[in-house]
Amino acid sequence: MPSVAIAGAGLVGALNACFFAQKGWDVSVYEFRKDIRTMKHVQGRSINLALSQRGKSALEAVGLREYIVNQGVPLYARLVHNKDGKTFSRQPYGKPGEHIVSINRRHLNEVMITQAEKSPNVKFFFEHKVKNVDYEKKQLVVQCTSQPSRIPTFGTRAASQDHGEIHVEADLILACDGAYSAVRRSLMTIPRFDFSQDYIEHGYVELNIMANNNKFAFEENVFHLWPRGHFTLIALANRDKTFTVTIFAPFSEFEKHMSTTEDVLLFFEENFPDAFRLLGKEHITETFNRVKPQPLVSIKCSPHSFFDNLVLMGDAAHAMVPFYGQGMNCGFEDCLVFSETLEEHDNDIASAVRAYSEKRVNDAHTINDLAMYNYEELKDLVNRNSYKLRKKFDTIMNMIFPKSWIPLYSMVTFTRIPYSEVIERRKRQDKILSTLLTTASAVAFIGAFMGMFSNRAKFGF
Ligand code: FAD
Repeated sequence: MPSVAIAGAGLVGALNACFFAQKGWDVSVYEFRKDIRTMKHVQGRSINLALSQRGKSALEAVGLREYIVNQGVPLYARLVHNKDGKTFSRQPYGKPGEHIVSINRRHLNEVMITQAEKSPNVKFFFEHKVKNVDYEKKQLVVQCTSQPSRIPTFGTRAASQDHGEIHVEADLILACDGAYSAVRRSLMTIPRFDFSQDYIEHGYVELNIMANNNKFAFEENVFHLWPRGHFTLIALANRDKTFTVTIFAPFSEFEKHMSTTEDVLLFFEENFPDAFRLLGKEHITETFNRVKPQPLVSIKCSPHSFFDNLVLMGDAAHAMVPFYGQGMNCGFEDCLVFSETLEEHDNDIASAVRAYSEKRVNDAHTINDLAMYNYEELKDLVNRNSYKLRKKFDTIMNMIFPKSWIPLYSMVTFTRIPYSEVIERRKRQDKILSTLLTTASAVAFIGAFMGMFSNRAKFGF
């Protein structure tokens, strides 16, 4: 059987291990961190994530969809909280029943590692840092951070060991080592490798709302949103009846209005009065004393594949800002698309690797841009009448033409239409809408003109 070496056992690396376990390949996964299943606290990004159709489809392919979805909290609509802290507006995500699922990141990651490990061909090497890729020799260079290394006990071939560095050979190398990928870094000098990285001006801080007498403190089956122009607060429910609350704001706003205890409490009380009451002064103070706002980065690169045997996937290929809830979903879809491409190419690694990159780069760039756009929507547009009107129009058109007129959000979230096609379809919808508006204005104008003419005839002026 062919062998695959995977850099990173995060969400995308662990899911890839499940896919290749199922194919019966020899799988070795090198993860920098300790085994998260043995850790008390796992440092890292968002506590919970919104899982949608693309992610679900990938989980389905490895037999985990039902289990994971059942461990989550379904969210059917956005609930927009007004500044008075008392009134709301509800914006359903799609058709009745359509929903996203709030799931716990750590639990999801652990379940996938355990699932992959059930296969005797899969081995996880924790506390093994991937340093770079030696592309002359097509080897992954790994360093064990806890002695002694257990490589090679299995799977991929350890070509050599030198100064604690292990050179790993495999038929296929998958770089799933996240936004700051060491593998991608070592490819930077390759001619015609395009790369761009943008830190947005916003950062985020996570807080928690505890259960209230073992009950959810807010309605649980909605995505809570407090859009306030250039900053915003969101809250997603967890199965333990808590809420993970995230504030997104420009770093300048954190510095100006949230750098002292008094300021931060005043800021929350003024802008999010209902959330403020439930978060509590003590928790807000403790959190802001303990954590600094975290940056958000958007990364694009092209191609996603190299040397006929190496592929960048997940955040290593396309880290995106989290405002469309698609980073993980897109990363999960990467695994599914690659698995499908391998099958289409009769497991010929070289041609599948090339075809995958050709197919996927454009989609990744598109969702990256859409994620950036959605921030405008979350922090501001949802409150505007033009946005609400467009949403209503899209819903009506979708009822009349369910297959050909699908709202943008639904195409991204509830289908597997390739992201690049999603944007093409949206452009066509915009064109039709603008033609309709022009025609309607022309008809109104002609109507008014005819009215004037007949009035003139009637009244003789
Ligand atoms: P990671 O999850 O970053 O995993 C990379 C792994 O590689 C880690 O385990 C790391 O320890 C390991 N690693 C790193 N370097 C090395 C090395 N040199 N050697 C070995 N191992 C290494 N996405 C959604 O779909 N829905 C959401 O609702 C959502 N919400 C988000 C909210 C926030 C605030 C943020 C920041 C992101 C959110 N995302 C969401 C995006 C999502 O978190 C990422 O897209 C996803 O984690 C990417 O998975 P990954 O496996 O590619 O990378």
